[in-house]
Amino acid sequence: MQNFSEFCQLSIKDNKLCLKAIIDITPGDVILEEQPILMSPQWESDQMKCSNCLKSSFVMCQACLVFPMCVECSAHDQFDCEFFQRAKNISKNVLISNYTIYAPLKCLLKMENPKTSNGGVNELLKLNAHLEDYLKSETWVEHRQKVVQPILECGIAEYFQNIKVDEEILQKLCSLIDLNSYEITNRDGEQVRGIYLRAPTIPHSCIPNTLMAVDDDFNLKIYASLPIRQGEIIYISYTNPLMGTSQRQHHLKMTKFIDCSCPRCKDPTELGTYLSSIKCKLCPEGYVSFSNSQWTCEKCSSTISEVDVNRLLSEVAEQILYADGDVRQYEALLAKYTCDFHPHHFLMIDIKQNIASILRAILMNPLCQPGRSVLRRKIELCEEMLPVVRAVQPGISRLYAIALYEFVITFVELTNYEYNDGEISIDEYKNRLLKSREMSNESVRMLEFEPLNSPEGHLGQRIKMELKQIEEYLTKVGSDAV
Ligand SMILES: [Zn+2]
Ligand SMILES: [Zn+2]
Ligand SMILES: [Zn+2]
Ligand SMILES: [Zn+2]
Repeated sequence: MQNFSEFCQLSIKDNKLCLKAIIDITPGDVILEEQPILMSPQWESDQMKCSNCLKSSFVMCQACLVFPMCVECSAHDQFDCEFFQRAKNISKNVLISNYTIYAPLKCLLKMENPKTSNGGVNELLKLNAHLEDYLKSETWVEHRQKVVQPILECGIAEYFQNIKVDEEILQKLCSLIDLNSYEITNRDGEQVRGIYLRAPTIPHSCIPNTLMAVDDDFNLKIYASLPIRQGEIIYISYTNPLMGTSQRQHHLKMTKFIDCSCPRCKDPTELGTYLSSIKCKLCPEGYVSFSNSQWTCEKCSSTISEVDVNRLLSEVAEQILYADGDVRQYEALLAKYTCDFHPHHFLMIDIKQNIASILRAILMNPLCQPGRSVLRRKIELCEEMLPVVRAVQPGISRLYAIALYEFVITFVELTNYEYNDGEISIDEYKNRLLKSREMSNESVRMLEFEPLNSPEGHLGQRIKMELKQIEEYLTKVGSDAV
């Protein structure tokens, strides 16, 4: 079992467990390294995953005929395999017909197996399952239907000798799996779920001072993203920083039973980003934000009812869904709602991110010959995103590093076109390359703490290649100095 590093210590604050820095911590310093106690497919996964390596699977284990395997693996967990060879009365389809049971079933098998019964799952069961909140949730009903009933009804309980398999233990496991797992991208680029013991005990803040990174072998690392002074509490974020306050709070409540009241949640402007603010209809420059339980204009103090705000939000959210990958429809939505929202409103950001990712796909497709307008539009979108990302994720930020990279690759491409066609002077060309070099360097610095064998680590390598290219362009025009 890995533990927290020598930089910090668990302590109690306001009756809650928290992690405190016991010395000054520098950005990049590792706070925790941990291996998962279990990796599993997502609850709703419809693609079978190999029970040994989690790659897509198209065959079953020939010994037990219950667990999916991939063509490269020759065996999965021996105890699990033998367990199902003995369980003669259980349908061989028990798992593939009810794939949602995978993670809780694996936990039960680990508890039953004498070699692992004192291991991670046992530790997991000691953690707070927040049963009071969980019992009232819709998730409980869903887990009952998709996990508890299939397991109890298939008759497997009688094959367990060391543990009692009933609804209570199954529901507790489901809640603990939800609370202590992270979505992780596997080597196939698909989302899987890693269950960890230590990292999920770090409290949440929407302005965290750490970042989490996971490598291709699912080893997790938490490192400082900002300087942390001795005595300060260590926080991590469990939400998307580009969501607005009420959306983040809802997400945290639903997934982790957390009521967040961090400084960002209390700030109506959300650190000056206005991510949730709406344009005032009664004055030309005012923005309406949620403060003191009301939607109030900061300039003229007029108010909008919460019902009206929510109606507008659902209307736009529905139209975003409806646009479904069509770049013209996204652009039309931006034009339509530009007089209703702050340009950094999270829904506007969402639309802009959708457009940017479509443009990225066009630009990366060797069969497409995009015009300059595509490059210019992507640059424009990147320029709008950069300050917002910077504000919501200060310090080392993977998101910011990616946004910088996205900007640079497009900017350099456009710059080369314009220079080669004589549209910009050599001095302008050099200046733009120098700016790109600086931004690439910043991006590389931010990704240097990511594991090399992780998607972000690979991205770091790609940015270094881009940097090399920029250096070559600079050398060609006889300059690498300011
Ligand atoms: Zn495999
Ligand atoms: Zn097997
Ligand atoms: Zn918060
Ligand atoms: Zn106003």
